Amino acid sequence: MNDYGLNIWGNSNFIIEDGKLCLNTPSKPAIIDIVKQIRDDGYRGPLLLRFPHLIQKQVEQMYASFAKAKKEFGYKGNFNAVYPLKVNQYPGFVKNLVELGKPYKYGIEAGSKAELLLAMAYNNEGAPITVNGFKDKEMINIGFIAAEMGHNITLTIEGLNELEAIIAISKERFAPKPNIGLRIRLHSSGSGIWAKSGGIYSKFGLTSTELIEAINMLKKANLIEYFTMIHFHIGSQITEIHPLKKALTEAGNIYAELRKMGAKNLKAINLGGGLAIEYSQFKQTTSRNYTLNEYANDVVYLLKTIAEQKNEPEPDIFTESGRYISASHAVLVAPVLELFSQEHTEEKLNLKKKNPQLITELYDLYNSIKPSNALEYLHDSVHHMESVLTLFDLGYVDLQDRSNAEVLVNLISKKAVFLLGNKSNIDLSKVQKDVQERYLVNFSLFQSLPDFWGLGQNFPIMPLDRLDIRPTLPASIWDITCDSDGEIGYNDETNPLLLHDVDVEKEDYFLGFFLVGAYQEVLGMKHNLFTHPTEATIKITQSGFEIENLLESQSILDILEDMDYNVYEIQDTLNERLEKSSLINDTQKKQVLGELYLFLNDNSYLKTIE
Ligand SMILES: *Cc1c(COP(=O)(O)O)cnc(C)c1O
Repeated sequence: MNDYGLNIWGNSNFIIEDGKLCLNTPSKPAIIDIVKQIRDDGYRGPLLLRFPHLIQKQVEQMYASFAKAKKEFGYKGNFNAVYPLKVNQYPGFVKNLVELGKPYKYGIEAGSKAELLLAMAYNNEGAPITVNGFKDKEMINIGFIAAEMGHNITLTIEGLNELEAIIAISKERFAPKPNIGLRIRLHSSGSGIWAKSGGIYSKFGLTSTELIEAINMLKKANLIEYFTMIHFHIGSQITEIHPLKKALTEAGNIYAELRKMGAKNLKAINLGGGLAIEYSQFKQTTSRNYTLNEYANDVVYLLKTIAEQKNEPEPDIFTESGRYISASHAVLVAPVLELFSQEHTEEKLNLKKKNPQLITELYDLYNSIKPSNALEYLHDSVHHMESVLTLFDLGYVDLQDRSNAEVLVNLISKKAVFLLGNKSNIDLSKVQKDVQERYLVNFSLFQSLPDFWGLGQNFPIMPLDRLDIRPTLPASIWDITCDSDGEIGYNDETNPLLLHDVDVEKEDYFLGFFLVGAYQEVLGMKHNLFTHPTEATIKITQSGFEIENLLESQSILDILEDMDYNVYEIQDTLNERLEKSSLINDTQKKQVLGELYLFLNDNSYLKTIE
């Protein structure tokens, strides 16, 4: 059976039972049952499900791996982690994360004023806050306020001008001060599509010359005791461990050098984020060559070695992994609205008494196809279809002939794929590209999978049920935006996704899009004014699940208001125009007004044809 690569990307979070995709917890609830319960209350369109137990799992694994590595190597420095808010700032995620992170004193990383204020409101008592990114005086001021409130905060400076501002502000403020971190510019960088954050050409960090100057400035301003951390971040989704090791060696040596220059309170190295997850659902495109345990062991071992060599204390370790912590907690579920060639059934065939030769041949192929000739016939039919289209352009066959050819080729390809079974066959996969089925799915790729649009990042996709039935149709997924980029195409090499042949007018068919909890929500854009989907938090209980914090997708009026339209003006104008219409009478107008009111207060995803 097709398990859609669960054993590659699933991290044991899901299992298949009775053909349904279930959460791998003792009560094993099926995702489709959760979805049905929500839809029974009238919610339509895409749903974003959040699973706090999967956040907890990632947080626990991260702390456990580092604890194990520290024990194994007898490492004396502490391990600390902060969650970078930019990866997902939605309250449905952040509030759960903070709560679950309490026992670990799991902290927060902020990269803007808004994120910093959010961190100051929600961060766990005694847990660290780190601040990265470009800062103006106001932002530094907020950092001082955080320290004055009792937060354990470190302002990591990205350039010497920020350090100058800190020195100036510290003279004006009250006694408590934030700790100071320096972001170092490494000559090593990461690998993969998000590797731009590291390296000497990166946007961030101090060069060696600037580091020396920073130490001198700090000493002169009597602030050197507040300098506690160096920081680097070599990019997101680091696909190989080697560049990280190089970066760590470099950072470890800088740490030791700075301490020797008199930075006696420098006690921590912050590795930034970048810990990768496996997004691929196909063996041929897997992307990550290390595990969390290896990562933790390498970090601890390398830092221990350098500290020993340089005769300096083993530094505290800080990590800022975001993707690793948040990606798996969110699953987008979207209903399939239509299969484009669904009408290509035998009933739609309307053969003439006398048909063009090619159509007769196609009809014969359809009737005599069997396992031994299926591939050959499939090839022939695709070839015939091309000829029919040429003849149509030249005016030799008519629209009815063309329709018959389309129906026959679709019927042949469905039958062929079925007859050929699971055999992986290079020829078959090539033909599948030509006979792919287009699934129209009720979601916006721009809103819910922006990294697919922007970077070609694939996310695992699978149906939520029928997993005991062999899928036979090579699938490309179309979203409901009017943009031709809103498509996840079938690709026989990198994305050979097969889905089921279902009649969605008779039965529901839902697709799950997985690992969408990192970056996608906040990067998502309102193209065509499709907004963040309806979301719910799913708490797993002993006997099943509970649906909490159901938040419906924004209404059309809310979306327009967000764009600074005056929504009263919109409503009044619609009203006036309706009043002025002489095409319907007053009773009819009253009804239409009521309808308009409902539409404006509903979200913009499709619902009636579901
Ligand atoms: C984006 C970012 C992170 C998070 O990176 P992930 O790849 O999501 O772990 C951590 N630290 C800094 C400074 C960042 O800019």
